[in-house]
Amino acid sequence: MRKPIMAGNWKMYKTPAETTAFFEKFRPLVDKAEHCEIVIAPPYTNIAAAAAACQGTRIAIAGQDMYWAKEGAYTGEVSGPMLKASGCTHVLIGHSERRQYFEETDETVLQRTIAALETGLTPIVCVGEHLKDRESGETEAVLSLQFRGGIALLTAEQFRRIVIAYEPVWAIGTGKTATPEIAADAHRVLRAQVRGHYGAPAADAVRILYGGSVKPDNVRSLMAQPEIDGTLVGGASLDANSFASIVNF
Ligand code: PEP
Repeated sequence: MRKPIMAGNWKMYKTPAETTAFFEKFRPLVDKAEHCEIVIAPPYTNIAAAAAACQGTRIAIAGQDMYWAKEGAYTGEVSGPMLKASGCTHVLIGHSERRQYFEETDETVLQRTIAALETGLTPIVCVGEHLKDRESGETEAVLSLQFRGGIALLTAEQFRRIVIAYEPVWAIGTGKTATPEIAADAHRVLRAQVRGHYGAPAADAVRILYGGSVKPDNVRSLMAQPEIDGTLVGGASLDANSFASIVNF
């Protein structure tokens, strides 16, 4: 039985004060949500405020990215040990906005994932096709390339500790959600890749989240798909009531 993960990605939104105010409202709304794990990824500047607000709760905090070196002359970057020391337990890796605007590739996704695991963080590794890939019937090929280049080079022991997020790029921030059937089909493709590389028990155990315009009014139909083990939510995670409705689907 795979326990769902309901994760929020705040992207580049909110100040520390807004973060504290969010959690004051959000915490009581989800205090009975034992059916799932809750993870929120605020911007780096708000991690301390988020970790303080969530201390003693079941809400976990994630970084939105990390560099693979532990420390060094890498202006602007943040490392896994820094995230961990600030209160993070998880980290998003390879989000499509990182791939699109900051030149992340499957190779750097792999390096970041390994570094996250070495730090003891749970990486949520994002994959997903562009609209042109879907329209040209290339979805399966793109997902399997991303899987083979960015994930399948992990050892079985490393793989056991990651979470995968399927996020079709055409559905992120566009209001166009994949239908539950389209999402479940892509999850089956990814799970088949996992089965091929790591075997059936690993495929049965890995959690694959769906992300892309998840909202309170579509979360139930997505979560009704046995293939979908949770959601990664951008815009709708910024409002406490809206993200609580998603968590409490
Ligand atoms: C995301 O940022 O991962 C995401 C899925 O965004 P949105 O929910 O806004 O589409």
